[in-house]
Amino acid sequence: MSRQEPTTRTKVTSIPHWYDPKNDIMTVADGENVRVRDDEGREYLDFCSQLYCANLGHDNEAVIRAMDEQARRIPYVSSAKQSPVREELAGRLAEITPGRLSHTFFSVSGSEANEIAVQLAREYQDAPKVLTRWRSYHGGTYGAGSLTGDPDTRATIERHAATSGVSKFLPPLPNAFGTDDPAELARLAGEHLEFVIRNEGPESIAAILTEPVAGTSGAFPAPPGYFEHLRDLCNEYDVLLISDEVITGFGRCGDWFGIGTEGVEPDMLTFAKGITGAYSPLAGVVIGPELAEFVGREGFDLGQTFAGHPVACAAGVAAIDEYADGVVENVRDLEPVLRDGLRTIGNEHDVVNAVHGRGFLWGVEFADPDTGERFHDPRVDEGNNPVGDVIAVARERGVIFGSGRPAFQIILSPPLIADRDDLERA
Ligand code: PLP
Repeated sequence: MSRQEPTTRTKVTSIPHWYDPKNDIMTVADGENVRVRDDEGREYLDFCSQLYCANLGHDNEAVIRAMDEQARRIPYVSSAKQSPVREELAGRLAEITPGRLSHTFFSVSGSEANEIAVQLAREYQDAPKVLTRWRSYHGGTYGAGSLTGDPDTRATIERHAATSGVSKFLPPLPNAFGTDDPAELARLAGEHLEFVIRNEGPESIAAILTEPVAGTSGAFPAPPGYFEHLRDLCNEYDVLLISDEVITGFGRCGDWFGIGTEGVEPDMLTFAKGITGAYSPLAGVVIGPELAEFVGREGFDLGQTFAGHPVACAAGVAAIDEYADGVVENVRDLEPVLRDGLRTIGNEHDVVNAVHGRGFLWGVEFADPDTGERFHDPRVDEGNNPVGDVIAVARERGVIFGSGRPAFQIILSPPLIADRDDLERA
């Protein structure tokens, strides 16, 4: 056997998760508070909280200390056994989640949490189908990718025909129903959903899975009344409502959870990202007593080795303490600064078509100033789309913004500890 010659080419050993045709992927070397630095020491305001998750900034002492103490006590306990810190975190989640939600089934990522929620719903309801919204994002793994309604993610999944049992309905977006009037939009989107439920066959539907504020697809809150109607439909047709709070959880939209703002109680709630402020991967599904009783009676063996890792749970408990200690309130207090600032910019620039969002999650949407054509449609020529330029210029000036999927808008999701000065500067 011939020995392999060492290659002189630079080896790239970590594959970035997003394809960048310009190969301009930033290297983030360190961070402090709401700022990060690249590998050449340049500093940036991190107005994407990396991926909507570094919500407590990049140097939270309380979270780091809690993780250190837990790692010294015992770093890992089998996910098939109990651990005091996992119990403590589940107790805290029962306190802050809406209504009767009471028991947590931990996992590692948001994708897995959604897969577990859907699998549990199917078992409990003894029904195969799940309804999700077009343009939603629920994860990138085999199962969660099929729940996702974002065209780019679906293209990969559909090539492998992995989407069985998932049907899509239209999101309550103005261009989906041809009206900007919130009451009319809520009514039409509700009627459409009922049409889908009836045609799919209510007895075949286990659950509806939805984000309370559409996240990566553009920071779209639903019009008032939409979620109440959705809850009523779930009750009427005996369908479980699963709220995907992977982005909206833990204060991102000004309440502990996005669905809480809507005054609606889901049957399950999935979380990830913000639970630890991104100091460690952790996710899960919170369920109510009936589902918990079902799991206790029937068993539910979808465990993972690192689900509810104790060091991550310690980060979770400490992060919740931090959120409770003025961070959620900070989002609520400063939302008008972000909202009004963005609206003012929007009014001053023809290319801005709309500004929407809630709390510290905002989308600035672009349209062609000459034709008025919105960049809503993934088929619109990307060459016209100014999103990449805006993001590049912002980066040159020291601010990191995100982009929606598909990329017709920029998304701002600063760490929840950002102050008035940070928001005004960005
Ligand atoms: N759900 C929503 C709403 C998300 O935004 C994401 C990720 O961005 C996920 C689920 C998937 O979470 P994860 O990337 O942790 O698997």
